[in-house]
Amino acid sequence: MTPTPEPDADEIHRFDDLYPVSQSEAIVEDDEFLRQVSAGSELPVLLAALAAALGDTSILHTDLQPPLTPMDTQPHPHGGMSESQKEKAAAVAFSALTVLREKQITTVDVLPDETVREIFHYLSGGREEWYRMLTHELDLATDKGGRPSWTFGEVAQGRSFPTLIIGAGVAGIAAAHRFAQAEVPFTLIEANGSVGGTWAKNTYPGVRLDTPTFGYSYSFAQRGDWPHQFARGGEILDYLRDVAERALITDRIEFSTRLLRLRWDDDGRVWEATTRGPNGSEQVRRFAAVVSALGQLDRPNIPEFEGQSLFRGTTMHSQEWDHAVDLKGKRVAVIGTGASAYQIVPAIVGDVDALTVFQRSAPWMLPAPNYHHPMTDAFSWLVRKVPHYAQWYRLWVILTGIPGRTHTVTAEADWPGAPLSVSAKNQELREYLVARLEAQFRDAPEILQHVVPTYPPGAKRMLRDNEVWASALLAEKTTLVTSGIARFTEDGIVDNDGLLHEVDVVVYATGFKPSDYLDEVEVLGRNGVEIHDFWDGDARAHNGVMVPGFPNFFLIYGPNVGGVVAGSLHFMLERAVEYSLKAIHEVLRRGAAAIDVRREALDRFVAWVDQGNRRMAWGQPYVSTWYQNRHGRVSQIWPYTNVEYWDITESVVESDHDFLD
Ligand code: NAP
Repeated sequence: MTPTPEPDADEIHRFDDLYPVSQSEAIVEDDEFLRQVSAGSELPVLLAALAAALGDTSILHTDLQPPLTPMDTQPHPHGGMSESQKEKAAAVAFSALTVLREKQITTVDVLPDETVREIFHYLSGGREEWYRMLTHELDLATDKGGRPSWTFGEVAQGRSFPTLIIGAGVAGIAAAHRFAQAEVPFTLIEANGSVGGTWAKNTYPGVRLDTPTFGYSYSFAQRGDWPHQFARGGEILDYLRDVAERALITDRIEFSTRLLRLRWDDDGRVWEATTRGPNGSEQVRRFAAVVSALGQLDRPNIPEFEGQSLFRGTTMHSQEWDHAVDLKGKRVAVIGTGASAYQIVPAIVGDVDALTVFQRSAPWMLPAPNYHHPMTDAFSWLVRKVPHYAQWYRLWVILTGIPGRTHTVTAEADWPGAPLSVSAKNQELREYLVARLEAQFRDAPEILQHVVPTYPPGAKRMLRDNEVWASALLAEKTTLVTSGIARFTEDGIVDNDGLLHEVDVVVYATGFKPSDYLDEVEVLGRNGVEIHDFWDGDARAHNGVMVPGFPNFFLIYGPNVGGVVAGSLHFMLERAVEYSLKAIHEVLRRGAAAIDVRREALDRFVAWVDQGNRRMAWGQPYVSTWYQNRHGRVSQIWPYTNVEYWDITESVVESDHDFLD
């Protein structure tokens, strides 16, 4: 990634963006070039960016409004504009680009609210209920609403309020940045030796994003020069490290420091945190508030198999990849065919001598021909030459992702196609995806019969397919085993057909234990209640953030905040941070010791998300996925859109909480 010049502090403040776009390059290209670039752009984005840069929203003609055709498998280019709309829009964009060139416009300031509304109206087809959430994501808004509007000194001058933030991954960096802006004093601990969380730990071959890069960044760090349409793991890690540096967080992190235990002191109204530092020594410290930014997908799930310990070869989990092991010439087994295996298998098939893939259930794959592609030249030009094009593009990815693919996985009551599909639309998707599989495996019917999933599309995470998975499975050196694993031996794995697969290396791409929230930490709340006893295997938090009986304790990547077919994860995490800060603000403003959410509020929230999840493919009783916990409740997934989460995290409802003196 090209290093971006050091940002100016005023610019960072003005746009609430650690990657502020101060000035674009002047356009010097001729008309022919501009015509081509207009036609090769994402037209609604280009029109929005040009309207903002020229201060002229009259170019956003109503008849050029994108219809926002809901995405089935991939986003529709230009939001589904018709051919004639595209032609007219390209002509309007070309003419606006020539004005930009003539006037040598290379900057744009934050926009008046009315202009923002007009552009949102154009992009969203007048969906006003989206505007406030979208403002949060628009660097050119006068007030995005994410930055705290208060500082600790203004509200609680002289009060001691030390806060502990646990984890310096995607969630922890967001928390630290916003807490720093509010000047709330904090200690940030990270169990590993560097920032980046999951992206620091997952370094397996082929690791990359499986959602579009531009939807996977912070509203306060809108990097524009991403090299790939689906960023590589290392690129995201570089970004996270860079964000932490720019936010001046890195030097404040206590690395290699693990939280062992939290205990709420009912008398002192503080949390007592026991941590283990780099030299192994334990320390007990007291904090007024605790923010858990621990991840969901970071505790490896390594299933138990008979004879596992006998195996003499090498074993590793996808998240604990041992790069010292050279796979060249080795016989390798990969257990699992989820998102991690799906990236590992095609990445290693070329190197290994023989590959055995143990599949329990086949994954659904959405076509993504651009999965490994760099950003196009036209895109890079637009980012350099049209002020804030990348930021408008990011907004567009988030906007079109509000409904995302929700409509393809929403269940119809009493749908007769169950358990293979959940609705007519879902059945249509199924048939389309099966037809793709039939084409990919047409010369291998013995494999085809095993790669067609036997559950509805969307019931588990759908993967991005640019055909490399099929190529890897079809390679002569690959064996797909679907009968299941009977046992391990010294030399390999015996399948349920009794066949021994001799291997040198076993890769467990068997996922994580996402529903075991905080399982490595003891958390004793009011009256000594341990959080896992309270949850009893069914982690629940009000708005995904607060748990009754655990005052001033905030979960950032808590239960039920992960989206799978719609929405931005960064948005959800940022809003959880902002909500936590609002709760702390209430505590400070009232001079209270702590805030504790009421049980009724939690129950109401859980009933509401359960109702939403029951309508989705993954919420059907005949489906089994890591989205569910051991009680069968979907405790990981947010079933609604980013807009509903914006709404419920906008304010801390007084009647839902108790304030402790
Ligand atoms: P996963 O989706 O949970 O997949 C685990 C795989 O292991 C599944 O195929 C599962 O089969 C199989 N498995 C589990 N236990 C097994 C057993 N006892 N015997 C045989 N097979 C077994 O885990 P993951 O692939 O690591 O991905 C987890 C999540 O991480 C993803 O859903 C995604 O959210 C995230 N992720 C994201 C990216 C990205 O953005 N690039 C990449 C990787 C992961 P069943 O399906 O039958 O359970």
